[in-house]
Amino acid sequence: MIRYSYMLLAAFLLLGTSAFAQEEQTEERAMGHENTNRFRQLYNEMSTPNQYRTASGAPGHAYYQNNADYKMTIELNDDTHIINGFETITYKNNSPDDLEYLWVQLDQNVREKDSPAKEKNGGGVGAVSQPGSFVGSYMKSEPFDGGFKIQEVKANGRNLNHTINWTMMRIDMPQPLKAGESYTFSIKWSYLIPEHTVDRARSGYETYKDGNKGYIIAQFFPRMAVYNDVEGWQNYQFWGNGEFALPFGDYEVDITVPKDHLLDGTGEIVNLKDVYSKEEMKRWEKAKKSYDKPVIIRTQAEAEKIAAGKMKATQTWKLRAKNVRDFAFTSSRRYIMDAQAVKFPERDVMAISIYPPEGNPLWEEYSTKAIVQTLDTYSKYTFNYPYPKAISVHAKGQGMEYPMICWNYGRPNEDGTYSDRTKFGMISVIIHEVGHNYFPMIVNSDERQWGWMDEGLDTFMQYLTEQEFGQNFPEAIKGNDAYPSRRGAPSKIVGYMKGNQEYIAPIMSNPENAFNLGANAYGKPATALNILRETVMGHELFDHAFKTYAQRWMFKHPSPEDFFRTMEDASAVDLDWFWRGWFYSTEAVDIGLKEVKQYYITDNVTESGRALLARYGVTDPSQIEAIYVVDEDSPEFTEDMRGKDMLEASPTLKEYLMDNFTPEQRAKIKTPKYLYKVVFEKPGGIPMPIIVEYEYADGSKKKVTYPAQVWRKNDAEVSKAIASDKEIVKVTVDPDLETADIDTDNNSWPKAKKLGKFDKFKNNAKGN
Ligand SMILES: [Zn+2]
Repeated sequence: MIRYSYMLLAAFLLLGTSAFAQEEQTEERAMGHENTNRFRQLYNEMSTPNQYRTASGAPGHAYYQNNADYKMTIELNDDTHIINGFETITYKNNSPDDLEYLWVQLDQNVREKDSPAKEKNGGGVGAVSQPGSFVGSYMKSEPFDGGFKIQEVKANGRNLNHTINWTMMRIDMPQPLKAGESYTFSIKWSYLIPEHTVDRARSGYETYKDGNKGYIIAQFFPRMAVYNDVEGWQNYQFWGNGEFALPFGDYEVDITVPKDHLLDGTGEIVNLKDVYSKEEMKRWEKAKKSYDKPVIIRTQAEAEKIAAGKMKATQTWKLRAKNVRDFAFTSSRRYIMDAQAVKFPERDVMAISIYPPEGNPLWEEYSTKAIVQTLDTYSKYTFNYPYPKAISVHAKGQGMEYPMICWNYGRPNEDGTYSDRTKFGMISVIIHEVGHNYFPMIVNSDERQWGWMDEGLDTFMQYLTEQEFGQNFPEAIKGNDAYPSRRGAPSKIVGYMKGNQEYIAPIMSNPENAFNLGANAYGKPATALNILRETVMGHELFDHAFKTYAQRWMFKHPSPEDFFRTMEDASAVDLDWFWRGWFYSTEAVDIGLKEVKQYYITDNVTESGRALLARYGVTDPSQIEAIYVVDEDSPEFTEDMRGKDMLEASPTLKEYLMDNFTPEQRAKIKTPKYLYKVVFEKPGGIPMPIIVEYEYADGSKKKVTYPAQVWRKNDAEVSKAIASDKEIVKVTVDPDLETADIDTDNNSWPKAKKLGKFDKFKNNAKGN
């Protein structure tokens, strides 16, 4: 008896949410089913932890990575646009495995005349085309004759057998390379540099209006592939979209270019005194002490004067870099340069901008500021920038990153004017590309396999940096409340996520297989992380976990699981459901209000009450003490129930309180005037926290967040009971648009009246 009464009281207090719903599901379930619960752990999707990579997401006790050191001499011919190179690679096998052969990447071969990359897509003639790809597809008479000419591969004075399979070269050593041993070999090569503004490459040259060239040179040497516990040799071909998987190593590179060129690249220039003028040297020393603003090392007037000279003599720049995954450089006689120092506890870092006069006045104004902001913000959320410099180079139409150096677009009109779009585009791309120093240059994920691991994390950090840039340089964003970030805010990804499912790939896809790489690998993961930080985990837990990931995998090679696991491991927030929804599926977020109903109580036995009791074997309701709950649509509802105090409506309830509570305890008990059931539905697949704003008749508002776990036992709809002193007049789901909800039409009760275009027109016509 008493047992029933407690049970029913509990059911009443919860308004039957769990009791009713569960009962109904149990009755319908007869056939059995696989576990499809969205909150089950990701054991099937994720690889099994092992001694190399632990279940915590940290490197394991047997974690290893191989190493590749390079010594190179490079000659850049400004007349023929040919690069000649000679490199000696020392490859250290730190793995426990003997290696029968080595794989070397030949990325330039993607630009061979008959490269299969040109035919990798189907689709015929598209309805929309960007001008560059239109020209490339339909208007070029001669294909560019690119690709490496490998002249020799040698070790110990002998030719080595090697097999070139398009963008990959297998080198067969006389004996397998034993675990723990090193192997030194050399390669001699040349290739024709593409004009990147015409042939659309990540590196190449641009021809300025005075006939001079600006070179941005990358992927210009045969580079060691990565061998590890995840992929074995990462020798997936370079098709053009998936970027690079590269081991760390030290570089000694000597580059010979025309004597009047200004050159910079990955690593420190160790013969500055030979290559800078006395005046430039003085300014460089001044820049090394200038922490608040850039110092111009070579002015625009000087650059223009030098550019007119077109010297034939050459000189050699010597660059040395420690612990980098790649090497790139830029060179031109038309370059302007400025630099500023950034203080870190361990070292000062030089922020350097290099640009032709075509970049001004924009570049002189903002480039170095954007580098400094990037180093500040990224370091705060990850680790202090460990390299001696960060260079931003202006190259038309480019946005591409390498260690310590990157190419960026953002060119004013010829008369020096520029739009906000050009300005913010330029600042954003600089932040993004300089930011890539952290992901993937230092946190060295496999870009060939997972574009999102660097692009997504970097775009997320870019958003935080842009917002801080906006706060620090209000003059730069005037006319805007905050920096107008293109990606990162949840509302910006809605269009993509509600698009045609046939043209959406999960974030966990190879970049070559994604349809819209910008949204897939940049926008969506950045937004997911933003939502995780703002709405699911909170700043403190997220920031600590994100920093833990960055520091655990700094100068190492993380896999996606290492990221997913670390985020949970360092925060104690179970996120398997979040990774599944946002990263492993193409589902979207859509949570809505299905129904809001007011309830009343009575002591009179109702039909639904009688039916529920019968399920528990109670056939005679008069035998138990019970309170019955009715809504306005129930047959038992009568108008006089409205406005009644709850204790007045149910003597049983009043009696119960009198019998079981002392006067002091009764004084603390609330007797709400209103009782509601709010039913939420989830037409979108991804379970998310339900963020609800309740608005009351007196105008006050209350925001409540139900955890995502509320969807564990019913994936389609959940109900909440609201007992309130005040009448609820409005309910809104996700009032601040935090969750990327793709359909907000179902987000409010009573349904928000939306005026269509036509209604507005009609109203205007009526003079409303
Ligand atoms: Zn990027």
